[in-house]
Amino acid sequence: MTVTEQVSEQQARQVAEQARESQWRQPSFGKELFLGRLRLDLVHPHPSGSAEVARRGEAFLDKLRDFCESQIDAAVIERDAQIPDKVVRGLKELGAFGMKIATDYGGVGLSQVYYNKALALVGSVHPSLGALLSAHQSIGVPQPINMFGTEEQKRTWLPRCTQEISAFLLTEPDVGSDPARLHATATPDGDDYVLNGVKLWTTNGVIADLLVVMAQVPRSEGHRGGISAFVVEADAPGIVVENRNAFMGLRGIENGLTRLTNVRVPGANRIGREGDGLRIALSTLNVGRLSLPAVCTGAMKWCLKIAREWSRERVQWGRPLGEHEAVAGKVAFIAATTYGLEAMLDLASELADAGQTDIRIEAALAKLYGSEMAWLAADELVQIRGGRGFETAESLAARGERGVPAEQVLRDLRINRIFEGSTEIMHLMIAREAVDAHLSVAGDIIDPQADTRRKVKAAAKAGKFYARWLPTLATGKGQLPTSFTEFGPLAAHLRYVERASRRLARSTFYGMSRWQGRLEHKQRFLARIVDIGAELFAMTAACVRAQRDRADHTAVELADAFCRQARVRAEQRFDQLWHNCDDADLTLARGVLDDRYTWLEEGILDPSIEGPWIAQEGGVGKSDVHRSIR
Ligand SMILES: Cc1cc2nc3c(=O)[nH]c(=O)nc-3n(C[C@H](O)[C@H](O)[C@H](O)COP(=O)(O)OP(=O)(O)OC[C@H]3O[C@@H](n4cnc5c(N)ncnc54)[C@H](O)[C@@H]3O)c2cc1C
Repeated sequence: MTVTEQVSEQQARQVAEQARESQWRQPSFGKELFLGRLRLDLVHPHPSGSAEVARRGEAFLDKLRDFCESQIDAAVIERDAQIPDKVVRGLKELGAFGMKIATDYGGVGLSQVYYNKALALVGSVHPSLGALLSAHQSIGVPQPINMFGTEEQKRTWLPRCTQEISAFLLTEPDVGSDPARLHATATPDGDDYVLNGVKLWTTNGVIADLLVVMAQVPRSEGHRGGISAFVVEADAPGIVVENRNAFMGLRGIENGLTRLTNVRVPGANRIGREGDGLRIALSTLNVGRLSLPAVCTGAMKWCLKIAREWSRERVQWGRPLGEHEAVAGKVAFIAATTYGLEAMLDLASELADAGQTDIRIEAALAKLYGSEMAWLAADELVQIRGGRGFETAESLAARGERGVPAEQVLRDLRINRIFEGSTEIMHLMIAREAVDAHLSVAGDIIDPQADTRRKVKAAAKAGKFYARWLPTLATGKGQLPTSFTEFGPLAAHLRYVERASRRLARSTFYGMSRWQGRLEHKQRFLARIVDIGAELFAMTAACVRAQRDRADHTAVELADAFCRQARVRAEQRFDQLWHNCDDADLTLARGVLDDRYTWLEEGILDPSIEGPWIAQEGGVGKSDVHRSIR
């Protein structure tokens, strides 16, 4: 048994807890929402960047659009499972690798809002392009260096990052959602570190020039140790990319299995302090996560376009498809959700640009919601397209029809629910942030490690907090028919959000009182709490955005439709908080894992290729497939 296999649940949680940003230095709309307080003042009027930011952003988008239209053939990327080198070079020349890098360091200096728009645009051409650019800028070298690097590190790396490609190396064969198991090591040696380990699924790894590598520094004299982040030259001796991985979607990404053997890295390449690696990764993602819903928004806009055109064109049973109620419901879902998701994304991104609030919850909600909703929308599109939805674009075109890549988009979107925080982990992470106020006053009461003195102190503190807080959940503006009237036809939706936010806080409190320390294991309860929060944030964003654009009544119509749908989903979740079969399912799952029902699997063959479930040390030992596109 290796050392990492012995990591207990408690240790895993401790590592995650230490990595999270414990302070709330700025107000947070999301945090308040989960506490039953609709702080509309934090998001309304809708924040917006300066005219200069918009001018620069629009100018860049124009260039990018021209390039995408004239130089990129999405079908070629899909057919060859590769983005042609000339496209990568063209994107470099355009500045697309430095979109998010400040002009002081040679970048384009786009705001978060325009960076998102650019990702949505390129991602709509082929999602692999969105992955290429966002893996480099949202999690690769630029973002952590920008946030945590010294001025010298910024001057060294950021200008290079405008023209070179970077990748982020955290995952290992045995390390997915649980970084406490991290096995790669960085052993201090004089002024250097010597890195060893195997990193799995490194997006851009096959063509990267620079890497951010997460590795454990052993604790020793003069070294506090812990998981640390390093910038590493991808062609350093000892680095071998042993496999180019292939997936159900994102066929154009250059994703590798990277082995590091005695790779010498100067101490000056460490980002932040020893032991800060995960905190850096998580803080980077607090904003970096917005790129994923941006790509999802682009995909949803495309789904909407195809759903509209096709549902009008195709006639069956005497009517265009879109006039059959079953299909109309799908078209309405795609249209309303595209509006809601874009509203959520824009609001979170404008807040990120304004820098006045803590947006960790809003960005995480946008990632969670965007990845789930875009997947549903693409699935509905495939259904609306019928048999053609299942057929590849190439095949459709070969027999003389429009080559609509609906099945490809569905495949490409699937990964968004897994990477940069899987849906299950996002639920837990957001729930942790949502209950932070409770844990900070009452955490010691339920902490088995806390002694009696700490528990008594916590009880007194909690008593005071809840005596003030609980009465605020009883009544609010949402009960007054005259509140939010400046929102016209959308006022009723904001009143609902206000009432539902208090109900959500009451439900959370009830869950905490009922299960106390066991609440963290009630994952499906927590997931529903978070999903309701996501709907409420999305509804707020839709109303605030429509209010900004109220001169255009179609925006109000979309916001209204979105809120109606979101409200139905939120109500279902509220109901499921207390009416569910979670306990029975848990029992059943245990029975399945205990081989109680293996007879049910009889009568089939398993076509899997033989091999271990998890290859020890990565396992393949092939020659280097790394190449540079300079
Ligand atoms: C195409 C692709 C690109 C990627 N790019 C990168 C990259 O550039 N850099 C990088 O470092 N990594 C990358 N990854 C890795 C990706 O981030 C991981 O796949 C992800 O973190 C999940 O880890 P895992 O696959 O090992 O799943 P696991 O952690 O094994 O989880 C399996 C399932 O169990 C669930 N689960 C796990 N723990 C819990 C829990 N405590 N409670 C409830 N449910 C749980 C998960 O949600 C998931 O559904 C990429 C992966 C892919 C497929």
